[in-house]
Amino acid sequence: MIEVYIGLGSNLQQPKQQIKQARLAIAKQKNIKEAGFSSLYTSPPMGSQDQPDYVNAVMKIVTSLSAIKLLRVLQSIEHQQGRVRKAEQWSARTLDLDLLLYGDQQIEHPDLIVPHVGLTERAFVLYPLQEITQTDLHIPSKGMLKHLLAQCPLKGLEKVV
Ligand code: ADP
Ligand code: MG
Repeated sequence: MIEVYIGLGSNLQQPKQQIKQARLAIAKQKNIKEAGFSSLYTSPPMGSQDQPDYVNAVMKIVTSLSAIKLLRVLQSIEHQQGRVRKAEQWSARTLDLDLLLYGDQQIEHPDLIVPHVGLTERAFVLYPLQEITQTDLHIPSKGMLKHLLAQCPLKGLEKVV
């Protein structure tokens, strides 16, 4: 079993509901057990500002699935929740599931880069990650989470109350 962190994001069609539904869909998979879930956070969009704010969270799981199999599971859940892929990067979406960390592995596959690209600069990933890790997490090839956080401004990130 390997410890894995997943980033969840949505800014369309009742984002909080989308995140909750995705959490349940992930947790009920064979070979996956939920091991933690952060608060929900809101933040302004990356890319085009002409779209609603995002709701984000981070989930911890333990799994026996390979990283690629897990990616395929996450993509099928995105698909089930009506995600339509657009050419434009960072466009609005009902659900985005990113494989942030897979144990302490570094993966470079045509469809899968782990740690997730951008993880180290994104407040909406680093703050929720911090919330659900007991130990001081080491991000492979990037350093300690607390050091990354110290260099990462909130950029409008707010906890949903
Ligand atoms: P973004 O999350 O940057 O908005 P998408 O969700 O549309 O972009 O994903 C684009 C591609 O990113 C996918 O086709 C997927 O194969 C690839 N990808 C690479 N690494 C990862 C990862 N760690 N988690 C999720 N997708 C990834
Ligand atoms: Mg994605």
